[in-house]
Amino acid sequence: MEWLIGLALAVAVAIGAYVRWYAHKRRAALLDAPIDAAALETIARSVPHFSQMPADRQERLSHLAVAIAHEKHFVGCAGFTITDAARLTIAAQAALVVLGLGLEAYESVDRILVYPEPFLVDLEHEEGGIHTLEESAVLSGEASDLGTVVLAWSDVAFGAKRESDGLNVVIHEFAHQLDWSTGEISGTPDLGSGDYDRWGEVMRRAWHRLTQEAKHHDHHPGLDLYALTDAGEFFAVASEAFFERPVHLRTWDSALYDQLKSYYRLDPADWSGGV
Ligand SMILES: [Zn+2]
Repeated sequence: MEWLIGLALAVAVAIGAYVRWYAHKRRAALLDAPIDAAALETIARSVPHFSQMPADRQERLSHLAVAIAHEKHFVGCAGFTITDAARLTIAAQAALVVLGLGLEAYESVDRILVYPEPFLVDLEHEEGGIHTLEESAVLSGEASDLGTVVLAWSDVAFGAKRESDGLNVVIHEFAHQLDWSTGEISGTPDLGSGDYDRWGEVMRRAWHRLTQEAKHHDHHPGLDLYALTDAGEFFAVASEAFFERPVHLRTWDSALYDQLKSYYRLDPADWSGGV
């Protein structure tokens, strides 16, 4: 009997190794395959400041986008049909977020659910095992759990059209996924051997600065005030600004910009055309 269990285990290990080898081979092929003109046009249209990016960055981003579009499961919800263009639009913006980090950063992302319009969610409250409905909220994107990203297509399309307003729901939700890969949304993604104390200090100072601006009704706060919801939202909103309005963010808080620059391993101020 023991030999049978041993054999079953060996077969399971071999199958696991084969699946990983095949996925690796498939990804390598996708990262190398030529990209057709229509796909390139969609990518260029979707990604903030794509046209000013150095050619090698454009090429890398395009390949990452195609790989994300192939590897992740895109699911149309509430009657939304996932077209190739919709899939690639979302994948291209998600690719921008990991342009410096690489696809490994999305290893835990599995499904992208796309609704036609901002969707209504019921926020539940749980106490002693009893769930009660607290309120219904309209959301345009939601990192509902690790591995699942929920988006409203109307907001994705709107964000893709306006590349420098600092608002981009895809960047926002995928930043949450990076944050979540540590096990919780805390505003601090996995920094590897990075300096967590420094991260916390820079975030706290920026938070304080934005709080002051909100208090004094500043007409042009450094970040969208939704950032002040909690530390997780602060990181996601700051990430939107980092990719869409990098020069603006750097002017507002250079320490915050530098911190995101070293985390994302990118310097978008180099190619944003001064925005
Ligand atoms: Zn959020």
